[in-house]
Amino acid sequence: MIDVYNKLLNQFGSKDWWPADTQFEVVIGALLTQQTRWENVERAIKNLKERGLLEQEPLSRIDLEELEELIRCTGFYRQKAKRLKSISEFFFENPDILKKPEDELRDILLSLNGVGEETADSIVLYAADRPRFVIDAYTKRICMCMGIKGDYGELQSIFEDSLPQDVPLYKEFHALIVEYGKRFCGQKRCTECILVENGKM
Ligand code: SF4
Repeated sequence: MIDVYNKLLNQFGSKDWWPADTQFEVVIGALLTQQTRWENVERAIKNLKERGLLEQEPLSRIDLEELEELIRCTGFYRQKAKRLKSISEFFFENPDILKKPEDELRDILLSLNGVGEETADSIVLYAADRPRFVIDAYTKRICMCMGIKGDYGELQSIFEDSLPQDVPLYKEFHALIVEYGKRFCGQKRCTECILVENGKM
């Protein structure tokens, strides 16, 4: 996988992902980014930040309808507002949660409402700075094109087993995959693909 990483890094340069001021902002961004584009998440984060809501206690206490309006641009806003409030409450009551051992942290996150594997691993990697490779839809697509099959856990093991356990590298690699996915896979630029010869799938 390191050759894929190097190709993407040469193509785009460092993405320095995830753009956030605090660990909690990463958590909120990871929930909001489900089923929407990052540009919409940025707007919602800005709304929350301007009102001083990107902290556990105020976010857990905000009126649900007010929160829905602030994050409406991310879609599924009713469901997401409930999830944001409950995860804020959980983080407020468990301020040291991100210091838990990696596997324990991941299991706890997965037990929370609305947190699936991709969201949990995004929080583990980008908020808690632990080496868990994030598998998103673009990663699955690229793997499929490269003839690599597997479920979430199997693909994650393939990446983690073939890369050094290096948090900055995991962060950068995932960000580069997302960038490639948006610019190439999502735009159907398969004939220009730099990862699969001739865009063959
Ligand atoms: S650009 Fe096309 S061929 Fe290349 S990885 Fe993406 S979907 Fe597959």
